[in-house]
Amino acid sequence: MAEKRDYYEVLGVSKGASADEIKKAYRKMAIKYHPDKNPGDKEAEEKFKEAAEAYDVLSDADKRARYDKFGHSMGPQGFGGAGGGGGFYSGGGMSMEDIFAHFGDIFGDGFGGGFSGGFGGATGGGRTRKHVNKGTDLRITVKVTLKDVMDGVDKKLKIPRMVACSHCKGTGAKDGTAFHTCQRCHGTGYISRVQQTMFGAMQSEAVCPDCNGEGKIISETCSYCGGTGVEKKEEVVSFHIPAGVEDGMTLTLRGQGNAPRHGGVNGDLLIVIQEEKDPDLIRDGNDLIYNLMLDFPTAALGGTAEIPTIGGRARLKIAPGTQPGKVLRLRGKGLPQMNTSNRGDLLVNVMVYVPESLTDAEKAAIESLKNTPNVVPTESTAKRIFSRLRHIFNKESRGE
Ligand SMILES: [Zn+2]
Ligand SMILES: [Zn+2]
Repeated sequence: MAEKRDYYEVLGVSKGASADEIKKAYRKMAIKYHPDKNPGDKEAEEKFKEAAEAYDVLSDADKRARYDKFGHSMGPQGFGGAGGGGGFYSGGGMSMEDIFAHFGDIFGDGFGGGFSGGFGGATGGGRTRKHVNKGTDLRITVKVTLKDVMDGVDKKLKIPRMVACSHCKGTGAKDGTAFHTCQRCHGTGYISRVQQTMFGAMQSEAVCPDCNGEGKIISETCSYCGGTGVEKKEEVVSFHIPAGVEDGMTLTLRGQGNAPRHGGVNGDLLIVIQEEKDPDLIRDGNDLIYNLMLDFPTAALGGTAEIPTIGGRARLKIAPGTQPGKVLRLRGKGLPQMNTSNRGDLLVNVMVYVPESLTDAEKAAIESLKNTPNVVPTESTAKRIFSRLRHIFNKESRGE
């Protein structure tokens, strides 16, 4: 397989390009390589698809951020949809149908939202144009725990969505057959208009107003769906949430959204990740933080401390003389970074507990330590310890 070109390079924009610059650049490319302008030109078709793919990623803030971070290797199953496998677009990338369904509006008038049915040879219908309806997107929020983020998780959810009416097969016509070909456009969904301009006669195409581009007219409506061609149905959707996701991230399941009226391309199902707070561990990117309150004898004498980890507990060795403010770093015990083998760390932030109330016996024991040589720090001991704790206010760190 050929090396994938950088999406910014494809659109000819800089890495810092604004959303508007990206849209303009894509529009220019899309018009230049539009199949209607380059009939039968395979190279133009590839360029057209390449630009659409780049635009799909760079026009979506979330996808763009992930692309900037991880490049083409981004996106496990469940991301970017149809192709599955690795990459935003693994297999054949976007189909022409996808491109027009998603970005048809960018071409504006004249180019319309239609696509050339014969292009790419899938339908073999020659130059027949067909209008493609697209259903609306559905957005749901899915809660994940830190354990889900650690391991990834398979979810199965019941989702109410619009599906093709079972009585009329989505056509809106009684029994799926009670319609006839539109007389005005002869079933193409488009009509041509010839306009006289200063450059001579110009032919443009517009969506047929009689059939709204559908090419057919319903003679008798389906009584079950009232002619809409859709019905609401609760369906079970299964998908995988990859390890390393973050709060607010959106996963796109192509074609899992609502079905459009009278057939066409389904909308997408957008899954917004909502991370549930863990009772013990704090997330900081891919690192996890645990605040450990150590008792004074263990801090002084050394020993072990039990700490929570994701999905269990672990025993941590405490060295004698462990200071409050020390951060113990357990490498690789944090969260995985999405689509890489990198893992964050577990940082144990040590605090030492100073007793708040004491019995007489405890008081006496501590009194006996007072003023003993190793319990009271010297000035140089204090300086040495403070200099090791970077997050404590030091003269150096404050730039004084
Ligand atoms: Zn028509
Ligand atoms: Zn129906």
